[in-house]
Amino acid sequence: MTNNNTDTASNEKKRLNFIEQIIEEDLSKGKNDGRIQTRFPPEPNGYLHIGHAKAICLDFGVAEKYNGVCNLRFDDTNPSKEDVEYVDSIQEDIAWLGYKWNEVFYASDYFQQLWDFAVKLIKEGKAYVDEQTSEQIAEQKGTPTQPGTESPYRNRPVEENLALFEKMNSGEIEEGKMVLRAKIDMANPNMHFRDPIMYRIIKTPHHRTGDKWKAYPMYDFAHGQSDYFEGVTHSLCTLEFTVHRPLYDYFIDELKEGRDLEDHRPQQIEFNRLNLTYTVMSKRKLLTLVKENLVNGWDDPRMPTICGFRRRGYTPEAIKKFITMIGYTKFEALNDISMLEAACREDLNMRATRVSAVLNPVKLIITNYPEDMVEELEAVNNPENLAEGSHMIEFSRELWIEREDFMEDAPKKFFRMTPGQEVRLKNAYIVKCTGCDKDENDNITKIYCTYDPDTKSGMPASNRKVKGTLHWVSCRHAIPAEVRLYDRLFMVENPSEEKDKDFRELLNPDSLKVLTNCYVEKYLLDCKPMDHFQFQRIGYFTPDKDSTKDRLIFNRTVSLKDTWAKINK
Ligand code: ATP
Ligand code: MG
Repeated sequence: MTNNNTDTASNEKKRLNFIEQIIEEDLSKGKNDGRIQTRFPPEPNGYLHIGHAKAICLDFGVAEKYNGVCNLRFDDTNPSKEDVEYVDSIQEDIAWLGYKWNEVFYASDYFQQLWDFAVKLIKEGKAYVDEQTSEQIAEQKGTPTQPGTESPYRNRPVEENLALFEKMNSGEIEEGKMVLRAKIDMANPNMHFRDPIMYRIIKTPHHRTGDKWKAYPMYDFAHGQSDYFEGVTHSLCTLEFTVHRPLYDYFIDELKEGRDLEDHRPQQIEFNRLNLTYTVMSKRKLLTLVKENLVNGWDDPRMPTICGFRRRGYTPEAIKKFITMIGYTKFEALNDISMLEAACREDLNMRATRVSAVLNPVKLIITNYPEDMVEELEAVNNPENLAEGSHMIEFSRELWIEREDFMEDAPKKFFRMTPGQEVRLKNAYIVKCTGCDKDENDNITKIYCTYDPDTKSGMPASNRKVKGTLHWVSCRHAIPAEVRLYDRLFMVENPSEEKDKDFRELLNPDSLKVLTNCYVEKYLLDCKPMDHFQFQRIGYFTPDKDSTKDRLIFNRTVSLKDTWAKINK
C-alpha cells in the first residue's frame, strides 16, 4: 500500500514541469504564507510573438493552477522605443489567448521609488556617476577571466555624485554623457557585477510620464525591485537571465536592508525560450520587417506575432496545444514549426466547417444534365462532429473544378478526371469524362462529362466504387474570391544562425502567393474573420480582416497534410 502511494506521488511529480515542482515544494513548506504571485513583464516596444505566448501560458497558467494571481507589468523604462500602440496590442493579444490579469502595473509607476533607492545607494557610497563614453566603459569591462579596470570617476565624493545625478535628470546633461553605475566589484567573475549601469539619460518623452524624467533605470535596476514592490513570489523568465540572477538578488538585498530579513522576496526561475525554425523572433528584427515593408504590418499572416497567427486563422487553443507539446525545460532548443502546424491541423480538424472552393478553376460541363435544373445537395459541416449539422450546396450543369484534377493523357495511377474514367463529384453524382476543348496554345478551356442520375450521394444505388472524389462549385452559384497562400517567411531553418548574411537576404521570395481567380460556394458569403473553414482537399482557411461581401479574401491557415494523395487512395 505504502509503495503504491509513493508510486502515485512520484508519477504525479513527473507530470509537473520543473517550475510547478518548485512551486509545490514552496507551498508545502508554507513559503510566502502559501501565496503564489507571478507577473508577465513585456516591454511595450513591439507586438507580442509566439515566444511571448510561451511565457504567458506559464505566468498565467501557474497562477490559475495554484489559485494565485498574475499581474501584467509593462517594463516601460526606455521611452525611445516604446509606445501606447504596443501597450494596447499587448493587452488585446493576452486577452485573445484567454488569460485575465489581476492588475496592470507599469515599471514607470516605481520611477520615484527607484530614484530614492538610487539616491540611498549613492549616499552609502554604493553608486557613482561615470562620465566616460559607453565605448570606454565597455573597454574597461575586462573578460570573464581577466578583471576589469576601475573608472577614474569611481571614487568621486558622495555630494558630487548626488549633484550630478540630479543634473542627469534635469535635462542639463546630453544623452550618453553620463551614467549612474553601481559600485560593486570590477574583478567579479560574474561580469554583471562589474559596476553595472543603473541609470542612463533619455530625452524622448515617455508615453506615461511625459518629460518628468530624463534619467531612466536599466532593466537590472528596475526588474527585481518592481517584482519586490508588487509582492511577486515567483519571477519566471527566460534562460538568458540566469547570469543576471545574482545581481537581481543583490539589489533586493540592498533594498531590504534595515527591514525584516524574513520579509518575502521574489525568487527568479529561468526556463528555455521558444525558438521556431524558419522564423526570427527578435522584436528588433520583426520591427525591421514591418518598417521596411518587407511584410504587410505586424499582423501580416506570415509574422510569428500573436496578431499574425490570429489573422492567419490560428486559434488560441492550437497555440496552447503546441506550447504544451514542447514544454518547459532548462535547455535551449530550436522548435520545429511543423509541430506548430500539426497542432493547428489537429485543432482545426475538430472545429472547421467543411466547404468547397476551387482555387485554379476550369469549367466542367455535364452534357446530359438539364440546362435549367438546380439541385440543393446536403453537405455535412464536420464529419468529426455531426452535431454541427449540415448546409446546402447548389449543383447544376456547369461546374468549376480544379485544373489539376484533369489530365488528357493520364498515367495509370491518376484517379481523377481523364477521358473514359469515372469519378465521384463530392456530395453529388458519379460522372464519366467524355473529352475536352483546348485553345490554340493547347490550354484546356472546357471539360465534358456525363452523369449517372442513379448514383446520387446517399442513394442506395450509389455503392458503385470509383477511386477518385473531386470537389466542385456550381458556376451559376459560386462567388469569386481572392485566396492568399502563405509559406514560411524564411528559406533557411535557423535564420539567426547565418551570421555572415543579413537576415533580410534569407527571406523566402515565395512566402505569399495571391490567387485572384478563385470560386467559393455561396455559403461563405456571410463569413467573418476567425471563422474557420476547411476547403475540402486543400487546407484550412479563414476570411482575412479586409474581406468584404463584395470582395471575399481568404487566408490559408495551414495546408492539409498530403492533400489529394490521401483522398484518392
Ligand atoms: P526581444 O528580445 O525579442 O526584444 P524580449 O525578451 O526583450 O524580446 P520582453 O517584452 O522583455 O521581450 O519579454 C517579456 C517576457 O517574455 C519576458 O519574461 C521574456 O523572458 C519572455 N519571452 C520573450 N521572448 C520569449 C521566447 N522566445 N520564449 C519564451 N519567453 C519569451
Ligand atoms: Mg526584454
